[in-house]
Amino acid sequence: MAEKVRVRFAPSPTGPLHMGGVRTALYNYLFAKKHGGDFLLRIEDTDEKRFVEGAQQYIIDSLKWCGIEPNEGAGYGGELGPYVQSERKTMYQPYAQQLVDSGHAYIAFDTAEELDKMRDQAKEMGLPNWQYNSVTRSSMKNSISLSKEEVEKRIAAGDEYTIRMKMPRNEEIKFEDIIRGWVSVNTNNLDDKILLKPGGMPTYHLANIVDDHLMQITHVIRGEEWLPSAPLHVLLYDAFGWERPQFAHLPLILRPDGNGKLSKRDGDRLGFPVFPLNWTTSEGELYSGYKEAGYFPGAFINMLCLLGWNPGNNEEIFTLDEMVDKFSLERVGKSGARFDPEKTKWFNQQYLRSTANEELAEMVKPMINGDFSIPYIAKVCELMKERATFISDIVNDGQYFFSEVTSYDDGTVKKKWKEDTPTIMEELISELEAISDFTTENIEKVFSAYLEKKGYGFGNVGPGFRLLVTGSGMGPSMFDICATLGKEKVLERMKKGIDIVNQLKATA
Ligand code: GLU
Repeated sequence: MAEKVRVRFAPSPTGPLHMGGVRTALYNYLFAKKHGGDFLLRIEDTDEKRFVEGAQQYIIDSLKWCGIEPNEGAGYGGELGPYVQSERKTMYQPYAQQLVDSGHAYIAFDTAEELDKMRDQAKEMGLPNWQYNSVTRSSMKNSISLSKEEVEKRIAAGDEYTIRMKMPRNEEIKFEDIIRGWVSVNTNNLDDKILLKPGGMPTYHLANIVDDHLMQITHVIRGEEWLPSAPLHVLLYDAFGWERPQFAHLPLILRPDGNGKLSKRDGDRLGFPVFPLNWTTSEGELYSGYKEAGYFPGAFINMLCLLGWNPGNNEEIFTLDEMVDKFSLERVGKSGARFDPEKTKWFNQQYLRSTANEELAEMVKPMINGDFSIPYIAKVCELMKERATFISDIVNDGQYFFSEVTSYDDGTVKKKWKEDTPTIMEELISELEAISDFTTENIEKVFSAYLEKKGYGFGNVGPGFRLLVTGSGMGPSMFDICATLGKEKVLERMKKGIDIVNQLKATA
């Protein structure tokens, strides 16, 4: 690749960015970084009816959270801007005119009502898929069917018009897609798409091609849903006499159950986020995001990276730098990639485990009440992280590290608090009281010696001990928990707890 790689992520701000969109952005980012190229963000907002306030900022915020920021584009600047298509509106008309002048496009005066009527009539005649194309255009009102004078007269009178692509008849359009190989489509299957709308706003197709050309895009990496548009795009490049970029159409992301594209409704239905960040609609409806659901951006990105691409071996955990290093479009599959919410949790678990305890502590601190030191919280994180999927699990399951024990696990009280447990706990208290250096090792030593002396099994003592100190029936090693809480707190909880649990047991 001699020229500099330049790729773009070109979302339309029609709502929050779906995770499929994030994956498209990610693959573009990885490809750009891998080849020392540029990654641009272009906002394609030519469809004014579908514009949604706040969507552009949401896209920028999402990419930022994911750590895959563009180095050029909307919100980032650059020499080939503006990068928001509505701000480029006046640039497109001359290009459309150029195609009219060269005979690749034409002016059409048919109004929306006339077109609707045409479709209805065709339907009545048993032709449900009427199209404006090489067969029908001659019977419509356009610069092909009307005289030059008539066309000029209409334009001078201010009649609204569109510019349409003059799709050639019976030609084979061929292009090579990096992921799909050769794609070939006959133009008889394509219609005369509108390039410029009345009022001068371009359609997606025209704006997309003009901008990719002007922004010197070398590779178009986008979702499979754009594959049907690619033949028209190829034809447009040829009509302008511009070099085509290389195309790579990414496979669909499929829903976890059944076939079909993952949609936001699947998320609601199966209880997982489909968006990177929370999004509230103008009607006040909330769609949950990965960030707010407690996911690490690295885990989210790691999961997305493997949704359609594979490294050629069983490796699954990659830092962003490793992804850049290993990524290639050749290893992106053609068939849809099934999204797996459980696997996504697994990724988060792996990321949580490999995050330093101090770092976890900084994340936990704002989620708890009370003045706990970072070293103390870090110790708690060390003990809890093996059992946690989310940071909130550390906070919720490890409540007893940050607040007093006020409730006791029902099942443990019923099943494990036996008649002799109160006496055993009193004895254990005296044993623990004698420890001067309250470390994990010392506590364990004293505990084991006590069991041995009394001929007890762990089951006689352990569950009651845990219940009094933590209120719960399970968790990390009791010796670690006690050493972390400190002697005073442990003994206080044990002494206070015996009576309360006795009472609970009596009323159970
Ligand atoms: N604006 C299109 C979208 O919303 C971009 C398609 C492309 O990348 O060409 O996805």
